[in-house]
Amino acid sequence: PESITVQELANRMAERASDIVRLLSKLDMPGSSYETELDQDTAELVISEFGHNIVRVSDADVEVGMVGEADDPATLVKRPPVVTIMGHVDHGKTSLLDALRGTDVVKGEAGGITQHIGAYQVTLPGGEAVTFLDTPGHEAFTEMRGRGAKVTDIVIIVVAWDDGIMPQTIEAINHTKAAGVPMIVAINKMDKAGADAGRIRQALLQYDVQVESMGGEVQDVEVSAVKKTGLDELIEKILLQAEILELKANPNRAAEGSVIEAKLDKGRGPLATVLVQRGTLKVGDVFVVGAEWGKVRAMLNDKGVQVKTAGPSLPVEILGLSGVPRAGDPFMVVENEARAREVASYRAGLETAKRTVSAPADLASMFMALK
Ligand code: GDP
Ligand code: MG
Repeated sequence: PESITVQELANRMAERASDIVRLLSKLDMPGSSYETELDQDTAELVISEFGHNIVRVSDADVEVGMVGEADDPATLVKRPPVVTIMGHVDHGKTSLLDALRGTDVVKGEAGGITQHIGAYQVTLPGGEAVTFLDTPGHEAFTEMRGRGAKVTDIVIIVVAWDDGIMPQTIEAINHTKAAGVPMIVAINKMDKAGADAGRIRQALLQYDVQVESMGGEVQDVEVSAVKKTGLDELIEKILLQAEILELKANPNRAAEGSVIEAKLDKGRGPLATVLVQRGTLKVGDVFVVGAEWGKVRAMLNDKGVQVKTAGPSLPVEILGLSGVPRAGDPFMVVENEARAREVASYRAGLETAKRTVSAPADLASMFMALK
């Protein structure tokens, strides 16, 4: 967006729109109304006339030198897909996650299959790996996306055949489409008497979801999370979709990723589960995460086992943070603690600025958080 209306600017500055109109007429821009679109220069002039400061949100990371350069294609290596399961309550999301976790061939090495964090990675008999995110409900998914985090490569929409398409199913479909992420429909509870998956395929048409057998391109699979049927086919489709997406990352660089969940643990302090998205994270690395920073004191994988390194698509729990970040916050390894402090405090300042002025998402990337 290259412009902002008088009203919108007034809202952001918590000033009266009529005062802006008055100022504009003084500045030789008479005839303006609340709907008048101001270009960036004019808006900046108005802002300074009102005695506010401008922080260029989209440039913030440029200013502190935190923009990650694109990786040379030659450095890219195949990485596991990251999958989120969404769907209406009681349609079997948790059951399906549990069942899929059971496909892990390295389970039970330590700690059994008790899940430790809100994300896990399974290694399949063929050696491929798939990462499943547990936490993102629809809200978390949207919130993370709002924070610019793109953590999911593929969404599985679970629909219980007997219950059919329900409000949260529709929500999940819409969120997935809005995020531009491919979906796979898992028609669940097929073990129940009278199971009729055709009904679901038919009903999905109403929401612009055309599965392959209906002439579309969305993959679907019949499963029973409880009886553990259809899981191989589901995984096959995930891997097929991953092939199509050509998911790759450079593992040989400073790590970057996103926070999946974070909390304050009484004994261990602030903890964050981070999905590494490029590079390899190592114990001892200094990082910035949102407006917090830290040094990786220890890392635990989804089975609660300490690991020394974590590469692309691996979720790990990190100890050693200055505070609790938020889901969706960007995570980035930096060269030293001074740098980490600098960026974190810069961002903390930005956060304060943003909180004082409501910023609609469509303009957030433009230019103003006001102080
Ligand atoms: P969530 O709310 O989507 O996480 O759904 P849950 O996984 O908690 O499942 C809700 C209920 O449906 C539980 O009682 C499950 O046992 C049951 N359920 C889940 N999957 C299946 C299935 O494949 N077949 C049958 N018969 N019941 C299932
Ligand atoms: Mg559940």
